[in-house]
Amino acid sequence: MEEEMIKIKNLKKSYGNKRILNDISLNAGKGEVIAVLGKNGAGKTTLFKVLLGLAKKSEGEIAVLGQPDYTDSLRKEIGFCMSIPVFYEHLNAIENMSIECEYYKLDKSNICSVLRAVGLDPYNNEPVKKYSFGMRQRLQFAECCIKNPPIIIMDEPFNGLDPKGIVKLKNTIRNMANGEKTILISSHILSEIKQAATRIIVIAKGTIVLDRYVNELVEEHTKDFEAFLIKKMEGYDETQTYRFD
Ligand code: ADP
Repeated sequence: MEEEMIKIKNLKKSYGNKRILNDISLNAGKGEVIAVLGKNGAGKTTLFKVLLGLAKKSEGEIAVLGQPDYTDSLRKEIGFCMSIPVFYEHLNAIENMSIECEYYKLDKSNICSVLRAVGLDPYNNEPVKKYSFGMRQRLQFAECCIKNPPIIIMDEPFNGLDPKGIVKLKNTIRNMANGEKTILISSHILSEIKQAATRIIVIAKGTIVLDRYVNELVEEHTKDFEAFLIKKMEGYDETQTYRFD
């Protein structure tokens, strides 16, 4: 059994009267790349925000690296890429990365190599406000990688990337995990998820309706892998009889 990095037990989250997450339980081990799938509005971002301390849970238990709930000491241990990256817009990539390094007390000598690794030119002096969405995604990933955190949470990281960027990110995710890190990743691009993830969970109606290893799923659903997942995201339960009128 892999070392447990994230433990979530009976997590519930409501916004006002609206229940978004209803009884989520999940244990994530070292080396796992867990794809969190679900329709728009299923609650993937909400789950990530609760894990990152950006939203408050309503009920349940969370332990990250053995620590109950989110504390400032976890800030350095969890890297994240959220769907709308925030930067110092008037500064260039190196300057943004330097601020990140100062904040987390990290070695700045790695900045250029990390920028190159995500496909950005360290000598591009343009302020970040001139960056395309894909470049912003790459810079956000660089800020995440330079921390070398044991846990990484990525919300729709393939969005806005060109095909080469998608392939590179997918390979980087697999290599980074490699027995060392725990990565949670949401995406709608099922073909990429199939290759990047080791495990898939599907959230529908606020709960986890599927939690399986990718290699098992691929074996069982060689021909209908994507169709099967889409049905699960709709909350389809094969033990019930449905009428599709
Ligand atoms: P996903 O990432 O799966 O698309 P989200 O977690 O972003 O889903 O959203 C789940 C639901 O929570 C949606 O119905 C959304 O409108 C609602 N929601 C998200 N954030 C808030 C908020 N700050 N206040 C109220 N409702 C919210």
